Amino acid sequence: MMIKQLNSWEKLKILGEGSKFDVCGFPSIFTKKKKKFQRFGFIYPAVGRKGSCVNLFKVLQSNACEGNCFYCANRKDRNFSRIEFSPQELAKLFLLYYKKGLVNGLFLSSAIYQSSDKSEEKMLKTIELLRYKYSYRGYIHYKILPGTSESLIEGAWRLADRLSINLEAPGPKYLERLSPTKKFSSQLLEGLKKIAYFNEKKPLRAGITTQLVVGAAGETDKEILNFSFKLYENYKLWRIYYSAFMPILQTPLEELPPCPLMREYRLYQADFLLRGYNFSPEEIPFEKDGNLSLKYDPKLAWALKNPHRFPVEINKAEFDELIRVPGIGKISAKRIIETRKIHRFTNLNELKETGAVVKRAQNFITLSGKFYPAPGKSEPEPDQQLFLWEEI
Ligand code: SF4
Repeated sequence: MMIKQLNSWEKLKILGEGSKFDVCGFPSIFTKKKKKFQRFGFIYPAVGRKGSCVNLFKVLQSNACEGNCFYCANRKDRNFSRIEFSPQELAKLFLLYYKKGLVNGLFLSSAIYQSSDKSEEKMLKTIELLRYKYSYRGYIHYKILPGTSESLIEGAWRLADRLSINLEAPGPKYLERLSPTKKFSSQLLEGLKKIAYFNEKKPLRAGITTQLVVGAAGETDKEILNFSFKLYENYKLWRIYYSAFMPILQTPLEELPPCPLMREYRLYQADFLLRGYNFSPEEIPFEKDGNLSLKYDPKLAWALKNPHRFPVEINKAEFDELIRVPGIGKISAKRIIETRKIHRFTNLNELKETGAVVKRAQNFITLSGKFYPAPGKSEPEPDQQLFLWEEI
């Protein structure tokens, strides 16, 4: 494989663009934040806590790959220019943008050239330069490649704020449909276990994440979410990112239709119910085909399937009952309980002041025993659940 020589700016354009399939923030199309710097592929507005947005310098160390994943733009059999940054070159380039205040942190990944360890060594060298030579103390999200050896993972754990490894699929059967080269247990899961081991010794400041490709291997949402639940339980992941499959020209999956973004979004919503709202995987409402409804958000779909749990009396309900009401999130539930110490709720306007989305909640609640259904609606609006990032 020939590595082409280009200047740093040309490399940055290509290797920034090449990193776009690695997800490290929530899908901003569903947030109220506008994407800044969208004209630069390497500046990535990652949406994080409470919808806040940080600009990450998001780049690959190299796009030269000996892997041949069926969905990937960097796969070995795809014909395009292969380039790489030297650690020194990339560290200096990042600092240039950081010092100008154009980015707040680094996201570093790479394709696999020669071996995972060889690629990882270059990435590690880059962040060592940043931390030790240039005294950079800011945020680093660092990608562990499949099959990386333990000593390199340990080195990365000492320097990065967040480590991630892409598991790609909810099991080996589905991974085989996505990649002929990645090994689910021995490379991916094993890598995650090693990261989790170090994280147990001393937690990473921004935790561990992983990424799953959605809609390219025939997996159902139920399989994905059951798998996600186990990952959260076993490895204390901070977050799982779902990446809707997009076909890329000159790949074996180029004819496959793209995964609807709404499917990706519904997965985030259901994931949120598992992590933040005490839903068990069995309670997540799936359609007959094992997927989430695209029409109704999962919390509303659950409420519609469980009419015996409603109406909930706002003046008496426990916190856990309140947060299961469509239109009431954790913040509004806390405010409801605080407000109840001062007065009873007697009308919908009082409820609105807590931040609850009244038009969503009103079909599922009573206020001092009175029911206030939305007028003239035979079925609920297929609206989105509360602003998803309310309390992340
Ligand atoms: S290992 Fe697979 S997913 Fe990773 S860059 Fe290479 S082809 Fe792409």
